[in-house]
Amino acid sequence: MYNTKAYSAVSATSPLASDTIARRDPTEHDVQIEILFCGICHSDLHSVRNEWSDFMSTTYPIVPGHEIVGQVTQVGSAVTKFKTGDRVGVGCMVNSDGTCPNCKAGLEQFCQNGTFTYNSPDKHKTATVTYGGYSNSIVVDQRFVLRVPPNLDLAGVAPLLCAGITTYSPLRHWGVTEGKKVGVVGLGGLGHMGVKLAHAMGAHVVVFTTSPDKKEDALRLGADEVVVSRNSDEMQKHAGSFDFILDTVSAKHDINAYLNLLKLDGNITLVGAPEKPLEVAAFSLIMGRRNLSGSNIGGIAETQEMLDFCGEHNITADVEVIPIQKVNEAYERLLKSDVKYRFSIDMASLKSE
Ligand code: NAP
Ligand code: ZN
Repeated sequence: MYNTKAYSAVSATSPLASDTIARRDPTEHDVQIEILFCGICHSDLHSVRNEWSDFMSTTYPIVPGHEIVGQVTQVGSAVTKFKTGDRVGVGCMVNSDGTCPNCKAGLEQFCQNGTFTYNSPDKHKTATVTYGGYSNSIVVDQRFVLRVPPNLDLAGVAPLLCAGITTYSPLRHWGVTEGKKVGVVGLGGLGHMGVKLAHAMGAHVVVFTTSPDKKEDALRLGADEVVVSRNSDEMQKHAGSFDFILDTVSAKHDINAYLNLLKLDGNITLVGAPEKPLEVAAFSLIMGRRNLSGSNIGGIAETQEMLDFCGEHNITADVEVIPIQKVNEAYERLLKSDVKYRFSIDMASLKSE
């Protein structure tokens, strides 16, 4: 084992603060990575504050962070996919059993024995739970390490590892292509990636936002139209017209307002994970044989496919790069929808702590 610097929280009400954690020495299948950037996902905030306690309680201390990019510093003897110096990424998962039907189908995110990057029981017993990317170094099985296209800027690549794949996967799964009318609800970290990706897939993209000042940005990011969702007249104009809507909202909101915008057999997929249940009116679904579904990140092969797609289309996240010392302030700004459009932590700032 070796020690590395990290930022952790010791309770649901504590700020994140400087810490030292242990990492395992790489086993034969492991890749050791120096973390250069780590994105801040709203899931980090939900987890640090234990907002999902009804579904998955947080074990403290927690070291969040699952939008990791960096370079390989060491590889185990059986590692064939990577070598020292490679630019790599790690997303929300660091292991799975590899044998269940979901793993065999390339859907490791639905493995019952999977290990998430943080707050999952640590099979290697280095600590009680896994520790994430708000740290200088991590050790990950090569199966869960991704290749980063050489043309993309690393600070903007980090958010692709969660926000990118979480929006790419449902867009692909529900057949978003040229000619489809696609809505994206919420222009935050996930939402702005959803806009860029759906636009690159050729869809007609409509952004729904509660922040009128994001209108121009939405168009620049690839939206064809922008609707301020608090304006019911603007909403009504789109009634019954969407093939697909991706809902990325992190807090309680009225989902029926969006269900009613779907056409016959249209689908709305929730990727946003508010802590409290959302109310669904039966008639919003019945009228128009509409579908309400959910989606959880994406499998490893699909994550690589998404990164390669971003490489081809020159897509990265729009990031505000911050030093780790600003992380608590960044969380407060996230709650005010005040981020354009993802915070990416420059991990060099942690070395000086
Ligand atoms: P984010 O950057 O904070 O974006 C959320 C956006 O939702 C905000 O920018 C805002 O957009 C909108 N919003 C916030 N509060 C709202 C409210 N009360 N009513 C209506 N709209 C509101 O968060 P994120 O990192 O994109 O994550 C979004 C959600 O997805 C979180 O719940 C996160 O945990 C979840 N998530 C799920 C997965 C998955 O695999 N399913 C993966 C990653 C994250 P406007 O200003 O445009 O209105
Ligand atoms: Zn995330």
